Amino acid sequence: MIVLGIESSCDETACALVNEKGEILSSVVWSQYDEHRRFGGVVPEIAARAHLEKIDLLIKEAMDKAGKNFKDLSAVAVAGGPGLIGGVLVGVMTAKSIALCHHLPFVPVNHLEGHALTVRLADKSVQFPYLLMLTSGGHCQILVVEGVGKYCKLGGTIDDSAGESFDKVAKMLNIGYPGGPNLEKRAKQGRILKDLFPIPMKGKNNCDFSFSGLKTAVRFYIEKNQPLTEEQINDVCASFQYAVTAEIEDRLKRAIRIFKEKYPIGRHLIVSGGVAANQYLRSHLNELAHQNNLTFSAPPIQYCTDNGVMIAWAGLERFQQGLTGTFDFKARPRWSLDSLS
Ligand code: AMP
Ligand code: MG
Repeated sequence: MIVLGIESSCDETACALVNEKGEILSSVVWSQYDEHRRFGGVVPEIAARAHLEKIDLLIKEAMDKAGKNFKDLSAVAVAGGPGLIGGVLVGVMTAKSIALCHHLPFVPVNHLEGHALTVRLADKSVQFPYLLMLTSGGHCQILVVEGVGKYCKLGGTIDDSAGESFDKVAKMLNIGYPGGPNLEKRAKQGRILKDLFPIPMKGKNNCDFSFSGLKTAVRFYIEKNQPLTEEQINDVCASFQYAVTAEIEDRLKRAIRIFKEKYPIGRHLIVSGGVAANQYLRSHLNELAHQNNLTFSAPPIQYCTDNGVMIAWAGLERFQQGLTGTFDFKARPRWSLDSLS
């Protein structure tokens, strides 16, 4: 069984071929950093046009690298949303065309389900149900993954995502785009000043997140201390990264209690999404899992930020369960994983 996965919901055009053993036959990712750098963030119209220019070339590259033909495929999967609608339309129409021409099953996948299931490709010990911290550029939520297509949301952000706050703080500090990885590098050279910034939702009686107040606190600090020395920039990075991690840990502590009560057979805490590439966060969540008798796991770093592998794998898991789509599927800018949330 071989599935082609296509991802174009934000600023990565990506394609991959995976098989049912979780072997990655090819994976190509083209990040639109250069297109968006001078704006300091993703511009939807530019993103859509860039996806359109690249997508067929990338699919050809992925097929060639795997040494496969369309006739070798079992299904075509695509991120059908949520995301920037122009980009999602490019991916969905391309996937539909390939599926139609080659008489293949068409599998629209929720982009978040891609982030939710990839961990199972690399770590076969991860069984349902598991607790998932999904933290990316556009999303920040805690879910219980009960099975393929079965999710229960325990909490989410009431304003920004963690990834967006990494990017915005990096922009304020002028340390380059994309913000997350650059900020992590600078944080390694800085001191963690625990009282410098607030931990927004600490102690709140739910599993929700907030990052806008933290972002504003960083902005006030920067404005008050102009011009910042290189050392101060590093300290801001370390202290901000600490506050984000502390917020996530605090919210997860509550979620773990709920998870253990409602799903006593659950064994794993998973983190995924672009921010899950952050080593500081990973090591703290690893520790938190151990303290709570859970096993920590996360996708390999290169499959945390958007990629085609996660879509191909989620598509394969859906296909195996008979959960394919139809050609009247409409690209969805908004698409909740938990239909009841
Ligand atoms: P995604 O939306 O899944 O493509 O992930 C992109 C987001 O992940 C952006 O907001 C990045 O800033 C963030 N990100 C990527 N790498 C890191 C990192 N090492 N530390 C923190 N955030 C990161
Ligand atoms: Mg992205």
